[in-house]
Amino acid sequence: MSKIIVLMGAPGAGKGTQARLIQERLGLPQISTGDMLRALEAEDIHTTQASGKLIPDDVVIGVVKERTARDDCQAGYVLDGFPRTREQAAMLEKLANEQGNEIVAIFIDVPVDVLEKRMTGRRLCPICGEIYNLYFKPPKSDETCDRDTGVKLVHRADDSAEKVRVRLDTYREQTRPLLDFYQESKRLLRIDGTQEPEAIHEQIKAIINNPLSS
Ligand code: AMP
Repeated sequence: MSKIIVLMGAPGAGKGTQARLIQERLGLPQISTGDMLRALEAEDIHTTQASGKLIPDDVVIGVVKERTARDDCQAGYVLDGFPRTREQAAMLEKLANEQGNEIVAIFIDVPVDVLEKRMTGRRLCPICGEIYNLYFKPPKSDETCDRDTGVKLVHRADDSAEKVRVRLDTYREQTRPLLDFYQESKRLLRIDGTQEPEAIHEQIKAIINNPLSS
């Protein structure tokens, strides 16, 4: 049975960083709804994203269904930023059943004060997608990518202090309750998200290889 790894956690917990490592090293495709929505040519979607509020469930569900139907998802995949509402979680149950996949939810737990700094300091390379942080993981040369020399890093509109507050409120109200849903069905594993990304990755790798013993 293939696995659907659901990375749970507040915005800024490191879901994107970990999903990227899993994709690069373990070969499971990273399905990031935030990135896929940003890549759509739809101004109304981008305006909502920039506000810190959620995109309607039917839109996000459509994107996830289409993406996970592709061949590269047959051996499993990693969801980063989905599900975020009860309705999305219900849809994922249905999809997992249809696909014959098993869901394993991993909660990357980070205290709120750390989250704020992680997001306001976050910078991304628009070419390779590498994630930096001005406080914790600065690029070698002033706001340009280490891999794509000279490429200016970008600061997401929704990573401003004001929007970060909205996103954390949205998370608390709509997404955090989903932890109970996965906990009750004994499919939730918690990881201390204040550790170094490499240490977190090692723990996730162990879970992916053998979820029941972790
Ligand atoms: P992220 O890159 O995961 O932080 O997502 C950025 C923004 O994209 C969110 O604040 C939402 O506006 C939108 N978004 C991403 N994933 C979802 C989702 N599963 N449901 C609704 N909106 C989403």
